[in-house]
Amino acid sequence: MFQATRIKLTLWYLLIIMIISGLFTLAIYSNINQELIKLERTFVVRVEKDRFGLEPSWDQIRQERMIQGLPVPKRLPLIDPQEIEQARWRIKAALLFLNIGILGISGVAGYFLAGRTLKPIKEMVDEQNRFITDSSHELRTPLTSLKTELEVTLRDPNLNLSDATKTLQSNLEEVNKLQYLSDNLIKLTQHRLEETSHAFTEVTLEEILEEAIKKTSKFASTKNIHIDNRSANYTLSGDKISLTELFVTLFDNAIKYSPADTTVSVVSEKTDGNIFVKVVDQGIGIDQKDISQIFNRFYRADKSRTKSESNGYGLGLAIAKQIVEKHKGTIKVESKIGKGSTFIVRLPVF
Ligand code: ADP
Repeated sequence: MFQATRIKLTLWYLLIIMIISGLFTLAIYSNINQELIKLERTFVVRVEKDRFGLEPSWDQIRQERMIQGLPVPKRLPLIDPQEIEQARWRIKAALLFLNIGILGISGVAGYFLAGRTLKPIKEMVDEQNRFITDSSHELRTPLTSLKTELEVTLRDPNLNLSDATKTLQSNLEEVNKLQYLSDNLIKLTQHRLEETSHAFTEVTLEEILEEAIKKTSKFASTKNIHIDNRSANYTLSGDKISLTELFVTLFDNAIKYSPADTTVSVVSEKTDGNIFVKVVDQGIGIDQKDISQIFNRFYRADKSRTKSESNGYGLGLAIAKQIVEKHKGTIKVESKIGKGSTFIVRLPVF
């Protein structure tokens, strides 16, 4: 499809260029032709004057001037109408070759440009297709288990109230997973669409971090994890809701992938118009091979290490990255297995 569209676009480019080139050719040719017609007329007039003796012939003029001792001017050569006709054909041929040349060059250039124009669109379509495939794949697992459980329960002739309640409870869990997944998919799409900074207001780092800590404190207390906020307070321009969401994800992960009774620290500094916020945990750490991938959607590092905390779909960091990019910032991670991870967020101050 990409190739067919590229060829179509090239043909459109060619059509436009050839129309312009054709109009220029016509204008140039008609101008030259006008000049040639004028030359032809001059020739005819001069020949007729010489032939019918309407004016003194060139020989008479020459003789008279020589007698008078005056310099004899050089006679301008007569133009042969046949040569004019040949010149006309040569001009036509030159213009035709010029147009063929333009056609060839614009064909190659147009094909190249069409490829470049369509490249970002192709990448976007490919990305959307990947997104749909990945999402459908992730949605299929809870849906299949939901369907299987329902079918088995319905086929059971001795179904009692207790069994039915158990099935419904299990179904509810799957439905919750589906809801969590679809909510995150919506967030991922929304942040991707919102490239503009229309929702940006002046916000302070303090209010964002405090809100994020408040939202994760319940989860932290279940593992007796303390979030030690040692961040300074800076003002920046941003979308408060999504920035809070970004730090909720980072704190949530820090708690999720840390053993009980540990500390998650938050520090910040400001340099060269950027605010750097570091979220440091004492958790399981991330393998070097996974570091470059964890910001990709649906990517979850080594399942065996993280399976105890399996209520995730690998969407949190993908959403976090989109939020950071919406703020023209960056996010990276430094980590050591068994020692912990440090997520570093850079946000420019406008
Ligand atoms: P998930 O819902 O699986 O947590 P995320 O996108 O938030 O999805 O994270 C992707 C993967 O990155 C996780 O599955 C986990 O393997 C790894 N990860 C993220 N944060 C941490 C952390 N603080 N410590 C260790 N591993 C982490």
